[in-house]
Amino acid sequence: MNKWEENVRKVVPYVPGEQPKDTNVIKLNTNENPYPPAPEVREILDSFDESRMRLYPAPNADVLVDSIAEHYGVDSSQIFVGVGSDDVLSIAFLTLFNSDKPILFPDITYSFYDVWADVYGIPYKTVPLRSDFTINADDYKCENGGVVIANPNAPTGVFADVLVIEDIIRANPDSVVIVDEAYIDFGGETCLPLIDKYENLLVVRTYSKSRSMAGMRIGYAMGSRKLIGYMNDVKFSINSYTMNTVTQLCGAASMKNDSYFRESVNKIIATRERSKKRLAELGFKMTDSMTNFIFASPQKKSAEYVFNELKKRRIFVRYWNKPIICDYLRITVGTDAEMDTLFTALEEILNG
Ligand SMILES: *Cc1c(COP(=O)(O)O)cnc(C)c1O
Repeated sequence: MNKWEENVRKVVPYVPGEQPKDTNVIKLNTNENPYPPAPEVREILDSFDESRMRLYPAPNADVLVDSIAEHYGVDSSQIFVGVGSDDVLSIAFLTLFNSDKPILFPDITYSFYDVWADVYGIPYKTVPLRSDFTINADDYKCENGGVVIANPNAPTGVFADVLVIEDIIRANPDSVVIVDEAYIDFGGETCLPLIDKYENLLVVRTYSKSRSMAGMRIGYAMGSRKLIGYMNDVKFSINSYTMNTVTQLCGAASMKNDSYFRESVNKIIATRERSKKRLAELGFKMTDSMTNFIFASPQKKSAEYVFNELKKRRIFVRYWNKPIICDYLRITVGTDAEMDTLFTALEEILNG
């Protein structure tokens, strides 16, 4: 190693799911939504005057913040927006986890949490889930510098009752609890109403999955005015203009059409439930996912073998060669037609 490299911050980065260049594939590997965003988003793109690009975007993204506030009936001062919820979570970690005590999160969860902890030098301890992948709230009733829970969890799809989440929040008045609700629109129950009861609760959401806008990069968080204020102070100490003007307008437009949103989410839920039955018939063991993906373990062949065989057939799903979850595949719920193609391929792979 060169001398200068000793002064370099070294990290092991998060590995996102593959985005194949070939568009002629069935992509069920990154939990994207198979349906387009609300038609109001198209209208923004068609009418956008490019001369507006001369100007910096609104630093507070007011139009977007106000539309989210109105949608959920909370005050605009209780909303933080970022470039995807990854950006929101990253700022939340940096701002809210500044203790010498370790932050806590499950051993099986979104694999970005330990990466942010490492890059920001936040001590952390992972807490084992039960063998059925559920959370035991009692495990979080110890000294800590913060708690992060994805609910429903990823990649397991398992939802924890709001009472379990509240139990964890109630036990931790001295640290911040982040609940990452990336998948909450596909089932389960939000703990959003608790933000008025607990000043130290942050609820994080994304446009990437239920709002079909992963490519736009919009995430947001809701919490007490105080918590959001601290996050904005850090954000404005790094980069004031993170979200571009077009994205802000498109995000606000999406919030305006709730019936379109519900319709596309309901289609995905229906396809998910049908897919669970079909996978069970194919001999998969799986959790009762409340998300837009299914966490399923093939019993006849190894998960890794099935993953590779699907890839040969241009069907991308997600596989992790990690303890505990190496027998599982995470399969994003696509359109009915995409899922039918998947089932045909699986029949061939498992029975061939
Ligand atoms: C997808 C996902 C995110 C990140 O979403 P973006 O808004 O696209 O950055 C965060 N948390 C969990 C649990 C996710 O699955």
